[in-house]
Amino acid sequence: MKSCARYWCNKDSHCKMSILPYGRQCIDEDDIQAVNEVLRSDFLTTGPTVPAFEKTVARFCGAKEGVAVSSGTAALHAAMAAFDVGPGDEVLVPAMTFAATANCVLYTGATPVFVDVCRETMLIDPTDVRRRFTSRTKGVVGVDYAGQPCDWNALREVVDGRDAFLLADACHSIGGAVSEGTVGTLADATVFSFHPVKQVATGEGGMVVTDEPAIAESVRRFRNHGISTELRQREKAATWYYEMVELGFNYRMTDIQAALGISQMRKLSGFLERRAAIAKQYDAAFAGSPVSPLEMRTDVNSAWHLYVVRVPHRDEVFSYLRSVGIGVQVHYIPVHLHPYYRKQMGVGPGLCPVAEQAYEEILSLPLFPAMKDDDVSRVVDEVMKAVEG
Ligand SMILES: *Cc1c(COP(=O)(O)O)cnc(C)c1O
Repeated sequence: MKSCARYWCNKDSHCKMSILPYGRQCIDEDDIQAVNEVLRSDFLTTGPTVPAFEKTVARFCGAKEGVAVSSGTAALHAAMAAFDVGPGDEVLVPAMTFAATANCVLYTGATPVFVDVCRETMLIDPTDVRRRFTSRTKGVVGVDYAGQPCDWNALREVVDGRDAFLLADACHSIGGAVSEGTVGTLADATVFSFHPVKQVATGEGGMVVTDEPAIAESVRRFRNHGISTELRQREKAATWYYEMVELGFNYRMTDIQAALGISQMRKLSGFLERRAAIAKQYDAAFAGSPVSPLEMRTDVNSAWHLYVVRVPHRDEVFSYLRSVGIGVQVHYIPVHLHPYYRKQMGVGPGLCPVAEQAYEEILSLPLFPAMKDDDVSRVVDEVMKAVEG
């Protein structure tokens, strides 16, 4: 059997991945073994591995509770329900994010209100949050863009005394921290994604972590059709009786996914270190060049989901890099510019000028733990060639 020359590909025979991706999971034999064990066990879902994964993640970020669900998007949706968001409410969301951050507001019948971001960091701008706050604002969702935590202190000041929630969309930032604490403890509730491009992979998967037992309880109900007790509780109490008390969904995570998650969590610190080292290598290489990385706030530890730079002639640079097998990406098209939002909400260009301008200039470079130093150098060389040519 011919071995694949590209180490980031797991295949032995032929590699279909001819391009260095911007992000990719890191799976080893321990992960495969962990999944195998669940496959041989009694429970593929609603078993003991899901709560074990929840405990692992909650403990890692210093939160009291974790509730695993089927995706980051499901976690956002469940969090909206836990905060009782519904028709007539407004929820403030940054314009520069993945569509799911705003979609979850629409799922509830409420209205997402787009907030602009800070130019240097792409993080939600607390001043603009204050400006767009109304009597209908039910809460604020901050996105820890690229892995850097938002200015949660400033956001807390805006909502203080206003009876509004703070939700962290931390799908980029598991393992990140600021001087006040770890991601997972900085907002009223925090949402993670375990999509393969994120720091911890379960295939699909997500989690809500919180210190509020009522929020955790609500998410547990919501992921299970709105049923007020879970199967394992009923088994313990030897009863068949259950009540559906609200309209929920089947957003459960399987034990197969949770086993992979537990195994991945053991390696998270190493993953984060490697991501930070790659980012440092990029930083050093681009210093003083026309390639400008995002800025870091003081006293933050980024979880480095993405390495985002601004480059001149972005579209040409993008095309060139793709043509030489470097899988750059653009994160993100501002949500209010998507056709659905334009049509459905009557929003469009001009609403969040900083995000719109940034969208023309940004590029995400490959960043994942299995990248070798040589790959990083190759990306740097090609990026420099592209911006200079
Ligand atoms: C990945 C991501 C999501 C959605 O997570 P899924 O697990 O893919 O559903 C939501 N918000 C942000 C900012 C993300 O990056």
